[in-house]
Amino acid sequence: MMEKLHSLDTNSDKDSPYRKILGPVSSVKGVGKVFERELQKRGVNTVYDLLYLLPRSYQDRRRFVSIHEIRSGDSALIKGRILKLKTLRFKYRTVLEILIGSENSFISARWMGAPQYLFRFKRGEGIILYGQFRKFGNILVTYHPEIIEKKDHQETGRLVPVYPEVEGISQRRMRRILMDAITRFTQDLKDPLPAGIRGARGLLRLDEAFREAHFPIGSGPHAPHTQRAPALRRLIFDEFFMLQLALALKRNQVSQQTGIAFKKQEVEELHRFLPFELTGSQIRVIREIVNDMSRPVPMNRLLQGDVGCGKTVVALIAAWMAAKNGYQVAFMAPTQILAEQHYFSTLELIERLNLTPALLTSGMGARADEVRDRVQQGKVDILIGTHALIQESVKFHRLGLVIIDEQHRFGVAQRALLKQKGVSPDLLTMTATPIPRTLGLTLYGDLDISVIDELPVGRKPIQTRLFHEKDRGKVYAILREEINKGRQAYMVYPLIEESEKMDLNAATQMAEQLRGVLPEFRIALIHGRMPLDQREPIMEEFKKGAIHILVATTVIEVGIDIRNATLMIIENAERFGLSQIHQLRGRVGRSSYPSQCVLVSPHRRLGDAGKRLRIIEKTTDGFRIAEEDLAIRGPGEFLGVKQSGFYQFRAGNIMRDARILTEAREEAFKLVEIRPELAHQTFDLLTHLFRRGTQGGNEFVDVL
Ligand code: ADP
Ligand code: MG
Repeated sequence: MMEKLHSLDTNSDKDSPYRKILGPVSSVKGVGKVFERELQKRGVNTVYDLLYLLPRSYQDRRRFVSIHEIRSGDSALIKGRILKLKTLRFKYRTVLEILIGSENSFISARWMGAPQYLFRFKRGEGIILYGQFRKFGNILVTYHPEIIEKKDHQETGRLVPVYPEVEGISQRRMRRILMDAITRFTQDLKDPLPAGIRGARGLLRLDEAFREAHFPIGSGPHAPHTQRAPALRRLIFDEFFMLQLALALKRNQVSQQTGIAFKKQEVEELHRFLPFELTGSQIRVIREIVNDMSRPVPMNRLLQGDVGCGKTVVALIAAWMAAKNGYQVAFMAPTQILAEQHYFSTLELIERLNLTPALLTSGMGARADEVRDRVQQGKVDILIGTHALIQESVKFHRLGLVIIDEQHRFGVAQRALLKQKGVSPDLLTMTATPIPRTLGLTLYGDLDISVIDELPVGRKPIQTRLFHEKDRGKVYAILREEINKGRQAYMVYPLIEESEKMDLNAATQMAEQLRGVLPEFRIALIHGRMPLDQREPIMEEFKKGAIHILVATTVIEVGIDIRNATLMIIENAERFGLSQIHQLRGRVGRSSYPSQCVLVSPHRRLGDAGKRLRIIEKTTDGFRIAEEDLAIRGPGEFLGVKQSGFYQFRAGNIMRDARILTEAREEAFKLVEIRPELAHQTFDLLTHLFRRGTQGGNEFVDVL
């Protein structure tokens, strides 16, 4: 669909209103080959990119401050006469001191190492400098102040930008470069935002915004520092607006496609097949989904709910409705193991609903061909697997619904590919990681959202405690007690790719050690490297209760569902993200037995990790945890992987600038609705400007 939105391709560049500003950054005065390469490393290729390299702060050099006004700690611009130059020799270094006087007072400016260029100054000469002052005894001292040439008009009489460090480039040179970019490239710049929106939201023109952001006239002393400063607000707005336009256009486009209008089924009749009463939340979201599926437009819905809230049964009821209409369902999980676990743990429910399931993952060998055949012949109602499902070799007889679990781990491209398999199938994506609202608006902004916000009744809260390695004895005691009560336990080891071998060793050793300490119990080890035919019997045994303790690497993170398991032990807990621990913890507390989560860490001083683990100890509220996690790790990390397709903003920060995000969203959706043509044009202009590289595509457009 992006072809249509992407009409401004390279061919039309010469007619582009942005030909100049999208020229190479080397067309700015002062940018040579070396600097150009440095900038390119930071993704700055065009003049426009350079203009988005925003100051990290500003120095107030609007006026000369008299020495009497300066308090210790202040930064100030001063002008005076050199009273004295002297070198102070200490044991290890030499310090040059220049005493500067003005209005019957003086200050001391000092440089360690006594740089040679300073010796050209002579007593009696005038000097201008900017620095931070501290009071030592009675005298104000500044170390390494910046000396400003009198003829350097741009360096005084204004708020002066301070840029992020770029190797080998002085701040002064950076400012000159930006000044040239502003004066020569933003004249007559066509503003990509419709004037109506600028007016409605009180936004500066783009050229004004660039000028203000770099060389602010600013009224109050701190005006330009804050993100609410009009210039930054405008620049951030553009980024968010581009994103929201894309989402709005996409949503609009989907709503014009013809999808399957499933005939509504008597969902109520299902209730007697289920082993439990649905919660009010489940009933509500089922209604939302069923209504959506019955519309003649493809469903594009996100089902969100905390771990353990019962999303799977909701998804299966949707699957049942599709099957009743004669359609097939594809159910995808992010990894092979998770797909298998989904398959095995939902088998019972699927059979109760009278659906024919099949599992398809890589590593199934010849069995896979047989599954493919049955799918193609329409003998399978619900096919569970990984992205193997979207490989060319899988042909559905009649695909009607796609369910994707843990969608933020799924490449967006994969999502699109799968959809191509059927005639605009309905799409239901599920996530157990509660997505904080602002992130939701960017990531899932084109989706309808259903939220399950209650847990099934009778669940006991999970008690969580952090233990130090030296208290392992206590951990074993808890373990013994729980199993003697007839319950089962998980013991999880972190496993990350970089240290996979070591991590695997640690888990293997732990299983051995446990067998020594608790010889009366059956203990099994499972990890991602084991082939399915080895894992399968272990999972079956654990499910039956024949295995008491399952030692596992993080592969069991999501999907597994064993109600008799009431103890989750997480080793090296400091190595996990908060959301991940929350997920793991959600594997217990699935019955009316009280459950516990034990975090073990070998470190005594945990620092930030300790802070995080305390949050986990204190709360089981997934939303709260996700917010904290997002705040600590930032969106990229929070979502786990780059393939999540998360767009890196240049100026905006979706958490800090949530307000601007909301405004941009409102305007974008409104524009698409009332002036779709203008919306397309605006989107074209923005993606053109924001593309990466002088000829490259826009990573953002690629992502959608
Ligand atoms: P999640 O939302 O984390 O995927 P699941 O769908 O795996 O949660 O459900 C967790 C457990 O709760 C499963 O054993 C499921 O059968 C059970 N369950 C789901 N809904 C209910 C309910 N309304 N009452 C009791 N148990 C339920
Ligand atoms: Mg689940």
